[in-house]
Amino acid sequence: MTGNGVERGYRALVELARLGSSELSPERIADRALQLALEGVGADSGELELIVDGHKQLVARRSAEHAASAPASRIEAPIVSAGRQVGVLCCAATRANAFDDLRRELLPAIGAQLGPLIGRSLTGASDLSQSLLELRALHRVSAATRSLDLDEVLNRSLEITLEAAHAVAGAIYLRDEAHRVYRRTARRDVPDDVAPLEYPMGPVDARFPEGIPYVLDMDDPSEDQPPIDAARRVGYRRILIIPLHVEGRPVGLLGLDYREPISLPASTLLTLEAIAGQEATAIEHARVHRVLARRAEVFGLLRAFGERALAPMDTHELALLIVQTAVQITRADRGLIGRINRRTSRVLAGVGTDAGLVGFEMPLDEPYMAQSLADPSPIVVEDVAALEPQSIIARMARERNTCSFMFITMRHRGRPIGQLFTGSGEPRRYEPVEVEGMQLLSSMAAEVIERSRAEEEVETERARLGATIEHLPVVVAVLGADGNLLHINAAARAFLVQLGHDPNNWRGGFESLEYSYPDGHPLPRAELPVMRAFAGERPEPLQMTIADERGRHWTVIGVAAPLTDEEGKVQAVVTGFQDVTSLRELADAKDRFLRVASHELRSPITSLRATTALLEMDPSSITDPARRATMLQRIQRQVDRLIRLVEQLIDSARLNATEVPLQPTECDLAQIAREAIELARSGATGPSEVRLQSPPTLPGRWDPLRLEQVLTNLIGNALRYSPPDQEVLVTLTEGDPVKIEVIDRGIGIPKEQIDKLFTPFFRASNAAQHHKGGLGLGLYIAADIVRRHGGQIEVGSELGRGSTFTIELPRRQP
Ligand code: ADP
Repeated sequence: MTGNGVERGYRALVELARLGSSELSPERIADRALQLALEGVGADSGELELIVDGHKQLVARRSAEHAASAPASRIEAPIVSAGRQVGVLCCAATRANAFDDLRRELLPAIGAQLGPLIGRSLTGASDLSQSLLELRALHRVSAATRSLDLDEVLNRSLEITLEAAHAVAGAIYLRDEAHRVYRRTARRDVPDDVAPLEYPMGPVDARFPEGIPYVLDMDDPSEDQPPIDAARRVGYRRILIIPLHVEGRPVGLLGLDYREPISLPASTLLTLEAIAGQEATAIEHARVHRVLARRAEVFGLLRAFGERALAPMDTHELALLIVQTAVQITRADRGLIGRINRRTSRVLAGVGTDAGLVGFEMPLDEPYMAQSLADPSPIVVEDVAALEPQSIIARMARERNTCSFMFITMRHRGRPIGQLFTGSGEPRRYEPVEVEGMQLLSSMAAEVIERSRAEEEVETERARLGATIEHLPVVVAVLGADGNLLHINAAARAFLVQLGHDPNNWRGGFESLEYSYPDGHPLPRAELPVMRAFAGERPEPLQMTIADERGRHWTVIGVAAPLTDEEGKVQAVVTGFQDVTSLRELADAKDRFLRVASHELRSPITSLRATTALLEMDPSSITDPARRATMLQRIQRQVDRLIRLVEQLIDSARLNATEVPLQPTECDLAQIAREAIELARSGATGPSEVRLQSPPTLPGRWDPLRLEQVLTNLIGNALRYSPPDQEVLVTLTEGDPVKIEVIDRGIGIPKEQIDKLFTPFFRASNAAQHHKGGLGLGLYIAADIVRRHGGQIEVGSELGRGSTFTIELPRRQP
């Protein structure tokens, strides 16, 4: 029997059921029922007899238009009501073999359907129990439709239908338009092979095009698809397929399984149709509700992600938040996020079984990676079995038992920056909202990743700048518009501490200072660079002198610049200064040197000229031996002085070029000291006593001329800066290093100037009044010679009481 035959049969049943509620007379009902039965089984003549009081009574007859030929095929079925035969239905056809098995079965179904009808109309009785069952089923279905829980609606619908239809097992399939399949969404007692998880949509729609119930016949050998074979093995003989429609639109199928050929009363079929219609609507509502709920959930997750991603967090925390969100959106159980660097994507964070992949580098030319890089939408793999088995991704999926996954390349302004994966341990379908959610997440994630990267860069830059400023040898401070300190560097803090202030009390520190121009004139506060910057100016660097309450002063170059907003309003001021005191002192020393040097050089020369002029004017002075000796001595002294000055100048020039080559030989320090004392005394003006305490000899390997120069200088200074009657003591002490001390009881040296004694051109403040000459080079040269011998020189002094210069000298230089 073909599909059309079944359809006709079914229609007959439905029509019969409708008759039940009609107001027709019993005879009209019988006649119409016979007509429907004939149409249903495709017969051309027939009779309907009722058994009344044990006798058959013909109630209706229909005969073929050409009744000439005798019927070649004939079937009959009992009319049954409440388990009791109440009549007989006979159908005949002039064709031979007009009735196949299904028709033979349909007739008893019609008979069974007819029984209660006729029984009711003729006898007033009805098959109450079935009607009650169906009513109850309808009632329950309408109760079930109130739920919005899809699974609950599905399961209850299936359960109600099974009961109402007296089926032994069944399943509900819903259409998945995105994947073009019917997907099983509920089942009861059917094995997987009879009711597989999915059916391709096309063949199913082709098979049941008109959306009316259809009976699949397991006894029909032409039905040879694998699920039907499986159904046969289980022992099913019929499967009733009831399509689910909502407003004429197909949404799914109900499949009901029977172990016997079915003979459902037409009213039951009608009820089933009604039940199915209600179920379809309920299922569709619940499905739409579920989609909407999922959608709301996904957007909720995205919104929560957006909010959380605003909080400051490091790269790893952010990466983890992104993967966790992706896993939630796609209802996955694992996931990872990779960051593209040059030729690979490096895993930054993972969850589930992918957590162990952190650090793994996936080459960008891996085929699926390359595909994703080229495609802005996610790559959805619902079953990894479909992947190219040799690909790295397929291999990795196998190793981790990942059966389905989705991944997308995150892009920032079109530029790929990384990948986002989520996966599951079983094959599965992804819903459109999940794919869409993943897409949205990936672009949000790209944005926050890039923002956090940019912030990190700015932070690093700021830290680098901060460190640079912190260690600048220049005092730097940043002040807010209200003058409060915003930032201060190490040099500034050190300066404040030097002033005796709290290292962060910038204002206190600088308000306590006196400011003046280099020429000593007071500098009005308003002229300070920092004040001018607050007034919105960009002042030139200014050299000035600052003095603290204790009278200490520094020469500094002060700078300041305003930081303004778009409207030019001063937001902050960067200010700073550099201490140029030592540069200033050096410049001063050079000026002094030039003055002293010209004076020093001029006096012996003037004196020489005077002597020679005298000789010229008075030739007798040459012939007089006594006067000649005095003259020559005078000339000799001036020349010596000149030579000494010139040598000092040459030495200091050499020192600056760092080339005073030593010429060490075996020599005797005691001898050198004696000669130096001799030389120093000859240069001294007054009667000067120098006492030497020394072992008779003190041999070592030194440059004797240089050591003599050092000692001559120290002894010369000791004599020069002492009153004429004070003795100078020179002691040499045996040992290694040997110790040399030059001790005087002269003017001493101001304590705070002792440090500077060995710098070139330095003369202590109390030196000039005592001795006009002196370049401030002697000690500088002496210290350098000692240092080159591997030794050291120190000075101890008390103002007005005298000084002790101590040298320690290794016996042999390294
Ligand atoms: P000069 O003596 O030519 O000025 P020096 O370099 O020899 O140069 O000495 C530098 C300064 O050190 C002197 O100007 C003086 O102020 C101080 N000085 C050196 N020796 C003594 C000393 N024995 N007593 C006091 N002051 C000294």
